[in-house]
Amino acid sequence: MQQRLVIIGAGFAGMYAALSAARLRDSQDVSPDRLEIALMAPEPTLVVRPRLYEPGPEQLTAPLQPVLDAIGVTFVPGTANAVRPGARLIDYRSPDGAERQLGYDRLVLATGSRLFRPDIPGLAAFGFSVDSLGDAVALDRHLQGLAQRPASKARDTVVVAGGGFTGIEVATEMPARLRAVLGRDARPHVVIVQRGPAIAPDMGAAARPHIEQALRELQVETELDVGVAALDERGVVLSDGRRIDSLTVIWAAGMRAAPLTATIPAERDDLGRLIVDRALRVPGVAGVFATGDAAKVPCDEIGNHALMSCQHATRMGAFAGNNAAADLLGAPGQPYHQETYVTCLDLGEAGAIFTRGWDRKVELLGAEAKQLKHEINTVWIYPPRAERMAALASADPQRVTDL
Ligand SMILES: Cc1cc2nc3c(=O)[nH]c(=O)nc-3n(C[C@H](O)[C@H](O)[C@H](O)COP(=O)(O)OP(=O)(O)OC[C@H]3O[C@@H](n4cnc5c(N)ncnc54)[C@H](O)[C@@H]3O)c2cc1C
Repeated sequence: MQQRLVIIGAGFAGMYAALSAARLRDSQDVSPDRLEIALMAPEPTLVVRPRLYEPGPEQLTAPLQPVLDAIGVTFVPGTANAVRPGARLIDYRSPDGAERQLGYDRLVLATGSRLFRPDIPGLAAFGFSVDSLGDAVALDRHLQGLAQRPASKARDTVVVAGGGFTGIEVATEMPARLRAVLGRDARPHVVIVQRGPAIAPDMGAAARPHIEQALRELQVETELDVGVAALDERGVVLSDGRRIDSLTVIWAAGMRAAPLTATIPAERDDLGRLIVDRALRVPGVAGVFATGDAAKVPCDEIGNHALMSCQHATRMGAFAGNNAAADLLGAPGQPYHQETYVTCLDLGEAGAIFTRGWDRKVELLGAEAKQLKHEINTVWIYPPRAERMAALASADPQRVTDL
């Protein structure tokens, strides 16, 4: 009898879940007739989210169908509305609008995350972001359109709400992007608004002075200990009552797990991630695994947890796919672990910064770090070649993103 493993989500975690499940199936000499592996997502495309702060976001996707074909994974186009674990069914909408069901024997939920947009007046109507491909394209078009607007301080000003990883990457890219649109003599004015007392709160004390130096070099200003209270067509009002006139306000303050996690009757953290065990199994929900940004899991024995990051999602995906397939094939699972942690933060024309370890020891700066960021963003995070053996070999859970 054929069994079916379904993976929902074609991001970094879903892609590696499919690859590693197919790798295990292959290594056990099991045919797709006995174990079907199906990947469900709106499109068979990897959106390269970590690059969405760059210009030309339409280019920042990679096709998945060729590699799925090469490894014998079925693509199911659709958006899941709910999971019914009791019946082992997924309710989903296919691209033609039809509501359908798909049954599963094991499920890997890899639906990722989305930007958290609080209920701030004007945010939905006037805020831009670089969270999804559609958001990044809308921002890019808006920036291009600024060239047709009359010169004004508001036209040349970008406000970025959020001084974390994404906020800094998008803010440091803005001076060059604005000059590309408005001309070399333009004087872009970029302001990061950060609720806390320091920029890059998660990057640690060693990295922060370098980031602050880069912001000074690029003349990116920071407003600390203050939030955005409201947005309108012409700018923002800060929580201390001051106003910044700006035609471009970019929201980059916080992520939440995609909403499908809420349809699984299990414990979730304050980011909406399903709390999973080291096998990436959702405790108490038979047959369901969760991974990537949709899951919270310890990644070592000293108290660190996987973050909402590409580097964790990729490896978590490989373990989840392997373990879900192993469960069906009667093979031993492998407990997820990821001791190494690095960050590579793009700082626009000021280069980049590369740190290693949870204490964020600075290893590379400036042009050297920028070169590494370029390699990560243009090679490492892309799907493997659509060649069966190479693709399967790329998904050994113990080796994926072992930096
Ligand atoms: C601007 C930006 C910069 C970033 N920079 C970095 C960085 O430098 N380094 C780093 O490590 N991380 C970075 N990240 C974070 C990184 O992109 C995410 O952690 C990563 O994408 C998570 O991978 P994932 O597979 O879990 O989810 P995602 O990449 O979000 O993929 C989720 C997939 O699930 C699908 N999906 C969602 N809901 C459904 C549904 N209901 N039904 C069917 N399919 C569904 C989506 O279409 C998508 O295919 C950045 C993110 C952004 C936005």
